[in-house]
Amino acid sequence: MNVRDSEHMIAELNNKEPYELTQELSEADLIIINTCSVREKPVSKLFSEIGVFNKYKKKDAKIGVTGCTASHLGKEIIRRAPSVSFVLGARNISKITEVVDKKHAVEIDIHYDDSTYTFGEYRTNTFKAMVNISMGCDKSCTFCIVPATRGEEVSIPSYLIVQEIQKAVDGGAKEVILLGQNVNNYGKYFNADQEQCNFTELLQKISTIEGLERIRFTSPHPLHMDDAFLEEFANNPKICKQIHVPLQSGSTSLLKDMKRGYSKEWFLNRCEKIRTLCPVATISTDIIVGFPGESDEDFEDTMDVLEQVRFEQLFSFKYSPRPHTKAAEFENQIPNEMASERLTRLQNRHTEILDEVMNAQMNQEHWVYFDELKAAGKISGRSDDGKLFFVEGSEELLGKIVKVKVNKVSRGALEGTVCA
Ligand code: SAH
Repeated sequence: MNVRDSEHMIAELNNKEPYELTQELSEADLIIINTCSVREKPVSKLFSEIGVFNKYKKKDAKIGVTGCTASHLGKEIIRRAPSVSFVLGARNISKITEVVDKKHAVEIDIHYDDSTYTFGEYRTNTFKAMVNISMGCDKSCTFCIVPATRGEEVSIPSYLIVQEIQKAVDGGAKEVILLGQNVNNYGKYFNADQEQCNFTELLQKISTIEGLERIRFTSPHPLHMDDAFLEEFANNPKICKQIHVPLQSGSTSLLKDMKRGYSKEWFLNRCEKIRTLCPVATISTDIIVGFPGESDEDFEDTMDVLEQVRFEQLFSFKYSPRPHTKAAEFENQIPNEMASERLTRLQNRHTEILDEVMNAQMNQEHWVYFDELKAAGKISGRSDDGKLFFVEGSEELLGKIVKVKVNKVSRGALEGTVCA
């Protein structure tokens, strides 16, 4: 989502005057640090980064801080680092042109509504387009700072989404990645246009776009995975067979403390349903260990879900207390050492599972959409079920969906040869 926000800001700036992107710090006239604040680490990194940029930047170059840390720290950022020219919250990125020339401007209103705003065109990769379908979040997970930084949930009208995808497809994209904090809660809140369209219907609408061949989305919420949605996922040939089902914890009592709205049984039931309807689908997840009050049994429940579902990709984190969240105030915070041990155990077991999953890929065939040229005569892309591929090849494969046979496996990626 942050990558897409950065693209939006580049597009907006370019609407005002032409900008050129540079990787050379010493060349830049404007440096934008687009931040995350889901865990504490990126926040502390922000201030050290500002220090580094101040040291190496051009004398008059401006530094702007944008995104979620901007939202929740606001003018505190300028107080701590007066060299920062402007601060722009995650919900306010369409206002980048208003703050870029205003010294010490701070725009962080989380009630700001961008849902019918048409952003300019800018895409890092023309072959696959990221498209926002909603903003903000209507959940109140006790660990999560996002509702405080991105504001209330509002869905973008479906005709605007279709329009944006159509433009991307006209520009060469065959794949779209729909973005939102809870994508499958789409359609619950609209602002300007009162339309009726839920996520399943949105997927159906989008799949009628000619020339669009692949649809991905992130993140769906396990709570909203009703049967109609899972059937659409399984049966719509344009929807890639890769689904993120963020678990957070396998313990029903901890899930309750987290205010996730589902139980271990519901989660397992949804994953089983996915496997039944669509055996080829890969399932990935997010897990937090060391949430306040996590007992050995709670953690074993998490390990049990890992064992039963055998997630292909796992994003796992040590719980990080965040401002504006309920859990930061909970008693019984878990000692860091214990959380680290649990994280290591979880990740080690996942690595074993992943090795088994990936080793079984040898000699398998996949349809790979090639979207990026790499060094040393390689080209990369993803299979329908989300596996990363590296294959020898050049431009003529770019933007094509081609059958590839796996001849080398590793944990993170597969290699193979194009089938005749
Ligand atoms: N709405 C998204 C969440 C985005 S944040 C979703 O439900 O998938 C991405 C992930 O960061 C979360 O799924 C969670 O696993 C992790 N996370 C969020 N807050 C956290 C915290 N306080 N400490 C550790 N990890 C956290």
